[in-house]
Amino acid sequence: MSNKQVTLSTKKYMPDPNYRKEAWCKDAEHAYQGYITDPDGFWARISHELEWFQPWETVKEWQYPFARWFINGKTNVSYNCLDRHIAGHRRNKVAIFWQGDDGSTRSLTYWQLLREVERFANGLKSLGVGKGDTVCIYMPNVPEQIIAMLACARIGAVHSVVFAGFGSDALHARITGAGAKVVITADASIRRGKTIPLKPILEEALINATSVDHVVVLRTQTPKISLLSDFERDFYELMEESDKNCAPESMDAEDPLFILYTSGTTGQPKGIVHTTGGYMVGTYYTSKYVLDIKDSDVYWCTADPGWITGHSYIVYGPLLMGATIFITEGTPDYPDAGIWWKYIEKFGISIMYTAPTAIRMFMRFGEEYPNRYDLSSLRLLGSVGEPLNPEAFEWFYHTIGKGKLPIVDTWWQTETGMHMITTMIGEPMKPGFAGKPIPGILIDIVDKEGKPVPPGISGQLIIKEPWPSMVRMVHQNEERYRLYWSGPENSFTASDLAVRDEEGYVMILGRSDDLIIVSGHNIGTAEVESALVAHKAVAEAAVVGIPDEMKGNRILAFVLLREGFIETPKLKQDLLYHVRITLGPIAVPSEIRVVDSLPKTRSGKIMRRVLRATELGEDPGDLSTIEE
Ligand code: ATP
Ligand code: MG
Repeated sequence: MSNKQVTLSTKKYMPDPNYRKEAWCKDAEHAYQGYITDPDGFWARISHELEWFQPWETVKEWQYPFARWFINGKTNVSYNCLDRHIAGHRRNKVAIFWQGDDGSTRSLTYWQLLREVERFANGLKSLGVGKGDTVCIYMPNVPEQIIAMLACARIGAVHSVVFAGFGSDALHARITGAGAKVVITADASIRRGKTIPLKPILEEALINATSVDHVVVLRTQTPKISLLSDFERDFYELMEESDKNCAPESMDAEDPLFILYTSGTTGQPKGIVHTTGGYMVGTYYTSKYVLDIKDSDVYWCTADPGWITGHSYIVYGPLLMGATIFITEGTPDYPDAGIWWKYIEKFGISIMYTAPTAIRMFMRFGEEYPNRYDLSSLRLLGSVGEPLNPEAFEWFYHTIGKGKLPIVDTWWQTETGMHMITTMIGEPMKPGFAGKPIPGILIDIVDKEGKPVPPGISGQLIIKEPWPSMVRMVHQNEERYRLYWSGPENSFTASDLAVRDEEGYVMILGRSDDLIIVSGHNIGTAEVESALVAHKAVAEAAVVGIPDEMKGNRILAFVLLREGFIETPKLKQDLLYHVRITLGPIAVPSEIRVVDSLPKTRSGKIMRRVLRATELGEDPGDLSTIEE
């Protein structure tokens, strides 16, 4: 088996030099060298921008494969997200703008948010929740979800947020797995104008969940659903009955902050544990230097708080920065595919951080929708979750960014807690490439023997040194945790395939698990999918390897067409030809199937293992995180 030579595009976009002048990060290369010269000093300087109740003594202790960061430092993340700003000039600044699916809006200033968090934190205490206890949060994308998370952080309870789209089995597994003492939920979530009851799902999930002492319910519907006395409590009643002041618990830097499950794209979701100090420093650092959040911004991350993107870049990082964040319960295509652009105009959103799955969906509907709205408030665009195909980059850059705005395509994982690879604002951008490792992060791309591969050759992406917001443990699975650190020279293996160009820009080629070996050549799914998406008829594509006697594997491609295109034998011929021209004969699919939808996780990632298993009549494995 050979590591494949990848033909890399040299296309570059040079951003306006003013971006760099005005950005928090003025010189990425200098910062990068600063880390190399003095790694601990680098992180120490960033940690000092936040408040510690007791200063830490040592930056890190690395005893392979376990790391501790900011040893003996005491702090509280909710204090840094709220009280720190209240004491300064952000007291009356809007912390959260919320837009409901039904058109209603709400906003909370930092002052108001702190008041609610303190009361709710006391409410949780009155239910017997204390430091180290686990609380499960199963709520839609409403401000109360963020209040619940911050209230947990305030009293030292470990939260485990479960995306509101999950069914009772997945919820049950997460509640019992974490031994949650309290579950916080809502009566319903509103999606696409429909009321979806959540409480009945929770009721089913609670059968045999013996750890749960209480359920707290946010009731938004009229008439109000009835609650079982004592066991079930109303969110606002609990809050209002509680004391208004709640001093933040002094947390050790290494005390756990939350458990969160990975997306389950490649297999069974892993319960990732993050801790207080390192996670706080990592998400603050990247929200500042990668997302470049300033006081004048209205910042919107379109993810759900139920995923790591939401934890790190809706809630913790931006609030640590004192940002005004925008959140919505709505979906991107309801009532039509213009709704997101309408929000940007309405709220004056200046930073938009979204996902390739959404961008490809918008491409499918065309430029007509975004062109209806004034997007001139935007100044920075971001992407996360899957490779941003060159075609999707171009669309985002030209149609939304009007050929001017920087795009940060951020590569990272639930396990990394924070961004790892991107093109820092102001640096030249290359479509298809996430970018370079950010200052503070050392990566490499290695072959099967663990040897670094030269530019242009694909290999496994590894992270060479520990970083503050790294995963500390896989919940109840130390063996799985150790597996992460099984890379060469005790490095972290990301399980992603990548390639670097001569300038050190990294392109993610797909998951190691999805790797297709054709006639002895490694083919990353993203290469073939990007080639397909580059054709004007294709909105989205997924490829899988099917065993083949001659070649070892052959490539089967599933494609979703853009509006206005229909399936014909000629179109399929064109697509095959197009891949051949772009990538060469080895990567040409043996078959193309036009489909209406692709199996995706609830966080919007294509689940290739499901396509493959369905094709082969095999067991697709854990399906708990699949979209309906
Ligand atoms: P599981 O680990 O359960 O299979 P998952 O890996 O999808 O699920 P997440 O932690 O949510 O769970 O996603 C991280 C993965 O998402 C990365 O390993 C990578 O494959 C992909 N990813 C994230 N951002 C990018 C990006 N900017 N470019 C390419 N791939 C990305
Ligand atoms: Mg993963």
